[in-house]
Amino acid sequence: MISAAADSRWVVLKFGGTSVSRRHRWENIGRLMSARQNEGLQVLTVVSALSGVTDALKAMAAQHGDAAAMAAGAEALIERHRGFALELGLASEFLNPRVDALRRLVSDVRAASGAFAWQAELLAQGELWSSTIGARFLASLGLDLQWLDARDYLTSREQAIQTDWSRYLSAICDPRPSVAIRDDLRARGSLFITQGFIARQPQGDTVLLGRGGSDTSASYFGALLGADRVEIWTDVPGMFSANPRLVPDARLLRQLDYDEAQEIATTGAKVLHPRAIAPVREVRVPLWIKDTERPDFPGTEISAESAAGAPSVKAISMRNGITLVSMESIGMWQQVGFLADVFGIFKRHGLSVDLIGSAETNVTVSLDPSDNLLDAGTLEALCSDLAQVCRVKVIAPCAAVTLVGRGMRGMMHRLSELLAEVGARRVHLVSQSSNNLNLTFVIDAADADGVVPSLHALLVRARLTGAEGDPVFGPAWRELEGLRPAPQPSWWHGVRPALLDHAGAGTPTYVYADSVIRARAQGLLDLGAVDRRYYAIKANPHPRILRRLAALGFGMECVSSGELAHIRQSLPELPLDQILFTPNFAARAEYQQALELGVHVTVDNLALLDDWAELWDGREILLRFDLGRGLGHHDKVKTGGEKSKFGIGLADLEQAVASARRAGAIIVGLHAHLGSGIFDVGHWKSVYSDLAALAERFPALRFVDIGGGLGVPHEPGEPALDLGELDAALAEVKAMYPRYQLWIEPGRYLVAEAGVLLARVNQTKRKSGAQFLGIDAGMHTLLRPALYEAWHEIVNLSRLDEPAAGRWQVVGPICESGDILGRDRLLPASAEGDVVLIANAGAYGASMASNYNLRGLVREVYDDSI
Ligand code: PLP
Repeated sequence: MISAAADSRWVVLKFGGTSVSRRHRWENIGRLMSARQNEGLQVLTVVSALSGVTDALKAMAAQHGDAAAMAAGAEALIERHRGFALELGLASEFLNPRVDALRRLVSDVRAASGAFAWQAELLAQGELWSSTIGARFLASLGLDLQWLDARDYLTSREQAIQTDWSRYLSAICDPRPSVAIRDDLRARGSLFITQGFIARQPQGDTVLLGRGGSDTSASYFGALLGADRVEIWTDVPGMFSANPRLVPDARLLRQLDYDEAQEIATTGAKVLHPRAIAPVREVRVPLWIKDTERPDFPGTEISAESAAGAPSVKAISMRNGITLVSMESIGMWQQVGFLADVFGIFKRHGLSVDLIGSAETNVTVSLDPSDNLLDAGTLEALCSDLAQVCRVKVIAPCAAVTLVGRGMRGMMHRLSELLAEVGARRVHLVSQSSNNLNLTFVIDAADADGVVPSLHALLVRARLTGAEGDPVFGPAWRELEGLRPAPQPSWWHGVRPALLDHAGAGTPTYVYADSVIRARAQGLLDLGAVDRRYYAIKANPHPRILRRLAALGFGMECVSSGELAHIRQSLPELPLDQILFTPNFAARAEYQQALELGVHVTVDNLALLDDWAELWDGREILLRFDLGRGLGHHDKVKTGGEKSKFGIGLADLEQAVASARRAGAIIVGLHAHLGSGIFDVGHWKSVYSDLAALAERFPALRFVDIGGGLGVPHEPGEPALDLGELDAALAEVKAMYPRYQLWIEPGRYLVAEAGVLLARVNQTKRKSGAQFLGIDAGMHTLLRPALYEAWHEIVNLSRLDEPAAGRWQVVGPICESGDILGRDRLLPASAEGDVVLIANAGAYGASMASNYNLRGLVREVYDDSI
């Protein structure tokens, strides 16, 4: 650190996109800056662009040949920022210089070629806008602060292997503590705001710092100013012992040393970008991760000091989308230079190698797609070069599961149960890092579901996550969530009388709330990376739902002649181009009818192309692929992977090309839908990039359809799918494949939360200590609990405010022992006639209902007023 007696002390605060996109968040930034100033610190705040702006700029960069499209993109951004200034109570004239700069970039001569130098300047605008608006707003609150251009302070340097792309879009700086800059700034004031993500070349061009660039900027400024600390303000309380979305028992990591934090960030944790650690590590500036919503929480502190404590596994992380390359050569150890040859080939293809396993006749390495621009073409070219020196096999898709902790080798004897758990899967590679900080297992991606939660549970059992009072392991995510402000009550709490009225007209009844469907639809309409949205009507084909969604611009996805006829009847005006027919093992006549009608038809079985060749000649169709893995909330909703009946296997790609050609079919779309109830945005990103990577085999291709499956939280307060994150992930792939339209076809996401099932209590019963609440809805009304073990919130709507009287088994009237809608539910003592509400039942509820036991079909009500 810089030592100067009367020197200023600095703190750097960093706020990401969601923290700068709302007025109350800026008020919070102002409060935090003042609080740090009152501690006697000089404050530099680093901000990202407003949420979604960098993606919008990337989309503009991708349209560089199309001046009109770019100009439209620019005007939309100008409107967005002017609107935000107005929301903050600012007259927007001060933005005129930024408006001019953006318009100049659109008409810049370099735009035609999409030069990287021009792209960098264009993408830098997001942070320049947000910091300019923020500075003006904070000044209006009375803060005496200065706006700095980050490029005047951060200078990039040449890297060992430098491409034009990395020079401009993923640059590296080497900030050294500078007394001159500190003195200069101190003379100017004590509060400053600047931009993340951007820097300048020694020659003067603007450059970007790559993904996660704002974290890296904050860290650079921390190093430059020799700050007391860098505070990264985000929307989680810190780093955890596992992804808390997957493992609610994951513990907050209060203290980490730089090496451990680096390892956790690099192996999968998203909260901090791995590049952000090195700059502060070199000058030993501590880095804190703090929660914007809960500023008083201690968060995670990363510093040079290792916390004393028993040896422990600090974290389990997982990366998906890993590709292994196995290289076999007889007696390679005797061959001088074999490894040099092999790694030379990887270097030539611009691929960085992550993990390495070696034996006398084999070397296997992993390629991490987050570092590599890995598409099918690159991989094929790599393999063909490697084949000159050895036998090559690609093993993909895989997942890498990593245990991180200092002194991993000394803990092996305590890991036996974990090793047994991992060993139950197909393990392709085990790697123990030479710095003794991690142990990594590469397994089949198809086996990866559930592995992190089970390993974490075993760690806790083996007491490897620290005892009570441990200096490193803080409270569990679950406990911290308990301390959060109570979640927003679900919509139905506010309309209880209307729902009781609906129940009065007869039960069981599904009620659908129009406002909730509109809100979910808007969320999907806001996904900038998506070109077309189709509603998978199997989730709920109620005609009012179809009409509502069609009016909002959704097309319809259907899987049978029955569904197709229903769409035509409910939406006679819907253009045929807005209908997607995605059947599975349907009869020939169904395909024939859909083709003759002229809707988009998806084929997921090559035998159809070969055996029914007369159907396809000259027809434009989609092919549905099984990408070798399935995901979802239950085995029964996974629609990909070895045992799945859906899709064409990737191994049959060449046969697909040949069969389509023989049949005269024109492949204009590629499709995959691998499961339902998914929260990991990386899933759609990898489906998208996997499909797009196949595109070169289909010259007429126009669109890529990545299916549905968007998850819906079960319980109130459970985190929802992060649509901003999803959009950003999709936009990244889109930037690589701008030629193809992106389509999605969600079902559940649009309607699940909008629907409640109302039922009446028929009987109650006690037996051998168990309490049963028998209602008039059952598995014939809502099959999901019996079919998928789905969990639905259940309340007694007639007695919503009464205390629970023990745990109840909520059961239906069907003569099946599986007719259980909820087990062990805390409910008040109930009486015959009470109205029970089952939440989140709008999807796959009524559409799967039957009249089994010859009980009547369930009623449905679409309510416009709620
Ligand atoms: N697309 C296809 C082909 C499907 O089979 C399904 C569901 O089974 C969906 C989309 C919709 O899935 P979800 O309701 O999970 O979004």
